[in-house]
Amino acid sequence: MSRKPFIAGNWKMNKTAAEAVETVKGLAAEVADIKNVDIAVFPTFLSVLAAKEAAAGSNVNVGVQGVHFAASGAYTGEVSVDMLKEHGITHAIVGHSERRQYFGETNETVNKRTLAALDAGITPFTCIGETLEERESGNMEKVLESQLREGLAGLTADQMEKTILAYEPVWAIGTGVTASPQQAQDAHAFIRQTLTDMFGTDTAEKVIIQYGGSVKAGNVAELIGQKDIDGALVGGASLKVEDFSALLKNASAVC
Ligand code: PEP
Repeated sequence: MSRKPFIAGNWKMNKTAAEAVETVKGLAAEVADIKNVDIAVFPTFLSVLAAKEAAAGSNVNVGVQGVHFAASGAYTGEVSVDMLKEHGITHAIVGHSERRQYFGETNETVNKRTLAALDAGITPFTCIGETLEERESGNMEKVLESQLREGLAGLTADQMEKTILAYEPVWAIGTGVTASPQQAQDAHAFIRQTLTDMFGTDTAEKVIIQYGGSVKAGNVAELIGQKDIDGALVGGASLKVEDFSALLKNASAVC
């Protein structure tokens, strides 16, 4: 089964709208020839519309860093799917570990947000991953399995195929420590096996599973060369045009 790799940049709480526009324009010019990798960036809510306009007609998709499950109401600071759809937003990160760590997101809220995005035709990039403590205490698989079983509860096979998963070991995010290609592949193989148990082989083989955690131009090729790694969710190395375009070109060269 060949899966088209998807590499996305999570800009977190970085860049003004003017900076986001400049970066998107520079990136779009640099990666215009890349056809074998899907590309997206995720600016802040305040920059996303300007960035999306700047990316129009290019192969750079622009999405958001979150989506709420309720249609409207008393959820200060949140944005609903209808608000996103009104502006043609089609990609959203769900359940990033920073949201779980600092903003109280749980497998249950990640599940509701993932389902809300799918119901609205928005592709969720649903994030999972263990902490260092969980890995070192031998609980990595247990943690990943409950994140998958609870976070993806109630999805149909068709919805699962439309969901992109990002495996991001928390200890590798923003630390400069990357999982080795073998460590990442082992986790991805476990994730795909769990998806097979939950949704069947046909569906599991179609799901794009990104790796995230200190991915850069110098290590992306080896990571995405692994059998079950289908792209990357990139933080720090997606912020500068030169870094992210080099990463995308290196990835494209081995796909
Ligand atoms: C991330 O925030 O999703 C991430 C993987 O960050 P970094 O690439 O900086 O480790």
